[in-house]
Amino acid sequence: MKKIKNRKSVIILLLFLLVFAGALVFITLKPDTVFLIKQRITQSFDKAEVKAVSYGNDELTQITYSEIERDSNFIIDNSLMLINQENTLSDSFSPNIGEYKDSGVIMDKGLFKAYEKMANEIIEKFDDKLYIMSAYRDSSEQEDISQEKKGEGTAMPEGASEHQAGLALDVYVKGFAGLGFLKSEVGQYVNEKCWEYGFIIRYPSGKTNITKVEFEPWHLRYVGFPHSEIIYRNNITFEEYIESLELGEFYYYDDYIITRQSSEGYLLPKEYKSAVISPDNMGNYIITLKTK
Ligand SMILES: [Zn+2]
Repeated sequence: MKKIKNRKSVIILLLFLLVFAGALVFITLKPDTVFLIKQRITQSFDKAEVKAVSYGNDELTQITYSEIERDSNFIIDNSLMLINQENTLSDSFSPNIGEYKDSGVIMDKGLFKAYEKMANEIIEKFDDKLYIMSAYRDSSEQEDISQEKKGEGTAMPEGASEHQAGLALDVYVKGFAGLGFLKSEVGQYVNEKCWEYGFIIRYPSGKTNITKVEFEPWHLRYVGFPHSEIIYRNNITFEEYIESLELGEFYYYDDYIITRQSSEGYLLPKEYKSAVISPDNMGNYIITLKTK
C-alpha cells in the first residue's frame, strides 16, 4: 500500500517538474508572447479615465482658423490624422516633413524631438541603438511597396499609409527586426513605453479586426500627448480613440482639454496655456489644449 502511494507521489512530482520545465522553455523561447500577456494584464489594472466636460456659453470663445494661424500659442500639425484604407490621404495633402539630424531619414518635423528623446534614452538604458528602417515614403514609393507585398497584408495601398504623411516610423535594433523586434529588450521597452514619448503601436496585437492590419510591433505612429497615454493605457486602437471623440464635445484628461470640431470656426474655453490643432482627416479638427 505504502509503495503504491510513494509511486503516486513520484509521478505527481515528475508531472509537476515537467510542467515547470515546459513553462521555463516557453518563457525562454517566447519572450514576446510572455511580454504581451504581461502587458495585457498591467493594462487592465491601469486605465486612463477621460471625462466629458461641459462649458457655459460665457466660458467659451470663438476662434477662426486664420486667428489660430496667427496665434503663437498654437501648434498646427498632422498628429491626429486618422489614415487608413477608409480614410486615405487626399491628393492635395502635403506632409510637413524634414530631414532628421542629417541622417538622410525624412519624417514629419513634429517627430524630431520625440524620437530623439526616445532613441537617446534607449542608448542610456540598454546601450543599444534604435534604427529606423522606414519613415516618410512618397506616394510612388508606397505604391511600389504595396505592389511588392500584395497579399501579405503588410503594406497599405497608396494613400492609406501613415508613412506617406511622415507620421510613422518602422524601427529595429541589430539582430531584431520585424516581429522579432519584440523578442529584444529594446523592442519590449518601445512597445511598453513609446507612449511616454508621444508614440503608439499603431497596429497592436489582437486588434486586426479593427485596424485591418496584422500586429506590427515595429510601426510607431506619433499622436502626441495626452493621446498616446490614453490609447496605450486603455488598450484601444487609434480608430477607436478618434471615434470616441464626439463632435463639439469637450474632454478632460490630466492637464489637457480635448475637443473635436467641424472646420468652420472653433469654440474654445477662454483660458489655456498652449494648444495643438490637427485635422482628423475626416473633415474636422482636433484641438488639444494644455491648461497648466
Ligand atoms: Zn510601418
